[in-house]
Amino acid sequence: MNLEALRASDAAHHLHPFSDNKALGEKGTRILTRGEGVYVWDQDGNRLLDAFAGLWCVNIGYGRRELGEAARRQMDELAYYNSFFGCTTEPAVKLSAKLAELAPGDLDTVFFTNSGSEANDTILRLVRHFWAVQGRPEKFHFIGRHNGYHGSTVAGASLGGMAGMHKQGGLPIPGIHHINQPYWFGEGGEMSPEEFGLARARELEAKILELGPERVAAFIAEPLQGAAGVFIPPSTYWPEINRICRQYDVLLVADEVICGFGRTGQWFGSQTFGIEPDLMPIAKGLTSGYIPLGGVLMNQRVAGVLREQGGELAHGYTYSGHPVCCAVALENLRILQEERIVERCREDTGPYLAQRWTQLAEHPLVGEARICGMVGALELVPNKPSRTFFEDRGRVGGLCRDIALSNGLILRATWDAMLLSPPLVISRGEIDELIEKTWRTLDQTA
Ligand code: PLP
Repeated sequence: MNLEALRASDAAHHLHPFSDNKALGEKGTRILTRGEGVYVWDQDGNRLLDAFAGLWCVNIGYGRRELGEAARRQMDELAYYNSFFGCTTEPAVKLSAKLAELAPGDLDTVFFTNSGSEANDTILRLVRHFWAVQGRPEKFHFIGRHNGYHGSTVAGASLGGMAGMHKQGGLPIPGIHHINQPYWFGEGGEMSPEEFGLARARELEAKILELGPERVAAFIAEPLQGAAGVFIPPSTYWPEINRICRQYDVLLVADEVICGFGRTGQWFGSQTFGIEPDLMPIAKGLTSGYIPLGGVLMNQRVAGVLREQGGELAHGYTYSGHPVCCAVALENLRILQEERIVERCREDTGPYLAQRWTQLAEHPLVGEARICGMVGALELVPNKPSRTFFEDRGRVGGLCRDIALSNGLILRATWDAMLLSPPLVISRGEIDELIEKTWRTLDQTA
């Protein structure tokens, strides 16, 4: 099919996620055809530096043949079997053990899902079940954060705090509450980041006391808020959250779907920020996006209750622990470990990226350049020192994203924040190219 025919067919038959489908149909979608390392190519043959790793997920970069070979081997051997009714497969067993080895603290048990959203749906059910089987069914309420993102399923989107998502489909479902986010640049006012971090953490305590600690099951949050605009919490935030959750016996869920598998310079964002989670949803970097797979990692307390007192678990997906997905995940983790990709980010390319990225704060359009490991943002502002936003929020960000594309660079825009999340294998030379293209893009946007 030629390009125009593909676009026409796409407009006629394909409803795109998170897209204005009418506008997209008129404009014509971009069709990606190939990937290698940190680059992808589109249908017109344009080479694009993918500074967003697909959707925060292609951690080992594009084009690693070994993952396809692992999938092929497993498909030839046993393409499918499930983990229901007393069965499982070797890749599912091996991946569970590997995750137990990598995860922080005593999180040593996994429940497999197909995605991050399903992981969060699973958490809602498992956590409520965890309290109910201990004779505490009233410990049922979840607290999340405004602008948090936990996926698109009914429970995932309800746990998240995206107003636009809540408007569609009758969300949030009952028993889910939200507190404010630790977004110092946008909401910190005159407070120092440390004062603000503490104040925002204490909103959790206030909400728990308002609902009654005996009714609050869990608090869920991303180690750093990704989709909202890469909000890196002040240093005071997470230690206080740890304290509050322990004090009121509220389970702590660290949503590691973006941060997991090296994104912040440690294997998990919980290690970067000193979070002590009871449960962690994972996905994305688990397979570097080569095949869909997610899961819920849980600690011995939660797993112990679910095993010993949980009875028959009335929850699961046909593809929970799919052997091909697990084989691909194992190969992905082998590459991450044997090539020391996470360590290289922490010790070499991450600090280099941080140094180059923060130089962009000198540009007149940039109010703040945030970075943590291999994830960051540029906050575009009309008036540099004042930390105020453009009146027509999102227009400049959208423009900047489109200009970046015409310069061969993929950056994502959330409102007027330009988001960065490149493959972890990006080299120093490619970082230089990324910075040069970003600077040129900012000049052309200003
Ligand atoms: N949680 C977080 C923090 C995410 O960023 C995402 C997706 O971006 C999800 C959950 C949902 O994952 P998925 O899109 O795989 O369902």
